[in-house]
Amino acid sequence: MAAHRDSAVGEQGSDGGRETEKPTEKAPVKKKSTGSASTSASTSTTAKKGARAPGAAGAKPAAAGKPAKAESRTALVRRARRINRELAEVFPYAHPELDFENPFQLVVATVLSAQTTDLRVNQTTPALFAKYPTPEDLAAANPEEVEEILRPTGFFRAKTRSVIGLSKMLAEDFGGEVPGRLEDLVKLPGVGRKTAFVVLGNAFGRPGITVDTHFQRLVRRWKWTEETDPDKIEAAVGALFPKSEWTDLSHHVIWHGRRICHARKPACGACPIAPLCPAYGEGETDPDKARKLLKYEKGGFPGQRLNPPQAYLDAGGRPAPPLDAA
Ligand code: SF4
Repeated sequence: MAAHRDSAVGEQGSDGGRETEKPTEKAPVKKKSTGSASTSASTSTTAKKGARAPGAAGAKPAAAGKPAKAESRTALVRRARRINRELAEVFPYAHPELDFENPFQLVVATVLSAQTTDLRVNQTTPALFAKYPTPEDLAAANPEEVEEILRPTGFFRAKTRSVIGLSKMLAEDFGGEVPGRLEDLVKLPGVGRKTAFVVLGNAFGRPGITVDTHFQRLVRRWKWTEETDPDKIEAAVGALFPKSEWTDLSHHVIWHGRRICHARKPACGACPIAPLCPAYGEGETDPDKARKLLKYEKGGFPGQRLNPPQAYLDAGGRPAPPLDAA
């Protein structure tokens, strides 16, 4: 999950709509033109069978794949679902990027991820949860001691107030358990809709769309919606996909935003969905230069989680280093 600068933890909106078109999940994924495929495939560190290297599909100029100005609703739904299927091939191991072992750890980590990276949160929370493993423990904590632990995440005084405050509410009003309902979660200090959906989607298995900064940027680049309000983005994008796909869709989009389609320099020349992207050319189109822009495992570097899922390790991903090793 995320950080708000670069965060996958964003406040988000309502239930969204329902798909209006027959699902196309089973449609075969068409092979893209070869382009730079042969050279780019060797640069990927992801060895998992089926995982696609960025650029492996060939980042052909967008013109051929660029949707017409007046793209029909049906064509938009098809293109959006195609992008999600392609990203699922590129990131078959996509997962929340905050380390957590239970809902309490996830809600705390998500609150801490505001204005920092998930990596920094993951490097900070082991000490926090070792000292305060339960809501009751954190509720009774000395704020100054918590502040010292949280200092590396920035805004540590406000974050200390939030995590102690939400722990007190969990202990006093919810029997020490994180509630599994949106209306309860948003009552917790520091928890908005985006954080609540991250928790619901990843700790309770309830579909939700996480409209963080990456999600907002990418869906506008892809012209899935022109909305700018997170709640309206959530509703507009939710209407393009079956609800059952919302959580994985969020992971795919956020992973693509973090690794390839960056805010300032998208790596268009190494982008596996270039033929489907109206914004192709907004970033670096030279394949060699674009590959140098790739981040995390796609760029050959460690991921954000110190304890990533096995599927990620099996695919060649590497755990992030602890704080004192960073
Ligand atoms: S703008 Fe992003 S999604 Fe579009 S081609 Fe460039 S990197 Fe890919």
